[in-house]
Amino acid sequence: TAPGATGTGLAAADRATLIHPTLPAHRTDRTVLVSGSGCRVTDAAGREYLDASAVLGVTQVGHGRAELARAAAEQMTRLEYFHTWGTVTNDRAVELATRLAGLAPGGLRRTYFTSGGAEGNEIALRMARLHHHRRGEPQRTWILARTMGYHGIGYGSGGVSGFPVYHTGFGPSMPDVHFLTPPHPYRRELFSGADVTEFCLAELRESIERIGPERIAAMIGEPVMGGIGAVVPPADYWPRVAELLRSYGILLILDEVVTGYGRTGHWFAAEHVGVVPDILVTAKGLTSGYLPHGAVLVSDEVADTVTGEQGFPVGYTYTGHPTACAVALANLDIIEREGLAANAAAVGAHLKDGLTRLLDLPVVAEVRGVGLMLAVELTSDKEARRPLPQGTTEVADALREQAGIILRTNPYALVINPPLVFTRQDAGLLVDGLRSVLSRVGLDGHV
Ligand code: PLP
Repeated sequence: TAPGATGTGLAAADRATLIHPTLPAHRTDRTVLVSGSGCRVTDAAGREYLDASAVLGVTQVGHGRAELARAAAEQMTRLEYFHTWGTVTNDRAVELATRLAGLAPGGLRRTYFTSGGAEGNEIALRMARLHHHRRGEPQRTWILARTMGYHGIGYGSGGVSGFPVYHTGFGPSMPDVHFLTPPHPYRRELFSGADVTEFCLAELRESIERIGPERIAAMIGEPVMGGIGAVVPPADYWPRVAELLRSYGILLILDEVVTGYGRTGHWFAAEHVGVVPDILVTAKGLTSGYLPHGAVLVSDEVADTVTGEQGFPVGYTYTGHPTACAVALANLDIIEREGLAANAAAVGAHLKDGLTRLLDLPVVAEVRGVGLMLAVELTSDKEARRPLPQGTTEVADALREQAGIILRTNPYALVINPPLVFTRQDAGLLVDGLRSVLSRVGLDGHV
């Protein structure tokens, strides 16, 4: 029987039918969301929540934008779907690629469309290896990545993601991957007292020499690391990494799946960290999640080798999807028209100030991030920088149930990536809600 329109009926049907990422079997409760507007979402019982994570760092323009629904409907009634395989193309895909060429940093003028972030990273990894192969260096297969980096869950993108959970129990991941230490200053034990950039650069140089520069295709990294919670590297990290890679002929892939499209206060975080990669991977904010879509932005040099006489041999069914492209164009219009990158910078700075005042609480260890990509690191011991023994799940549950705040957590931190339409008033409500719950969290992690 069909579930009733009540939260209870939907939750029961959900338990019977749906496989959820990250949900342990003992959790039988469900938050059944049914509608959204701006930075608010509403559940089946009519309760409203503040969406402080733009779902998963996606919904730049906020929920419930009729303009994006109209763009999709108009396109669907004209040409709902085609692709950009072979000689076929479509007006919306060309229009969006042209628009992206004008926005991308440093002359990344060529675009390959996907339906999401992991798909984009798969393409980036394939392009990097194929680029060297076609230039007569087929032995350049190694990929440098960072522990605690996240790039999606394909066997390639998951293979370069530096969390054990993506590697345990799934058989062999993509071979020829080497993990480096992430530039995460809070985790001072990683650097044995050394300067973070100096440590990371020495390790990078040593790793390149050990593997052999002639065997390395690319390094992949998020300019600001999202999975572990808005880790902004020291200002000299990326420029020095990029320079070293260039000197060895190793390509740089920046994963801007979260940081792209205004989140850090710039169109792309590459501008914030001061580097131009060879390949820049985007998704999420490209359409604000109204439809799944992604774009890989590529330098002329790499695009020329991987297309070339033999063509680029791999394509997704939905590459260049005209309706997804139409929604992306309308979404970029809103981001531009409403100055949402500038809003992310201004409201983000204001919110960060408010969050910083929570440092007087015993469980709040660090507030970090840039623009509307922020994180609050929780601890049971500020001196030793120990995480909460229970992790952060109970805190996230209390925030949702007691304060009506939905945000994403990892085991160490609250990850705060609100829609870019977040206001100062929203920021005030969020900080007040966090204070009311976090002041009740004990050093044992229980609320
Ligand atoms: N790269 C980064 C930096 C991400 O944060 C994510 C998703 O959170 C991905 C890639 C994977 O994107 P998707 O889930 O769309 O495949």
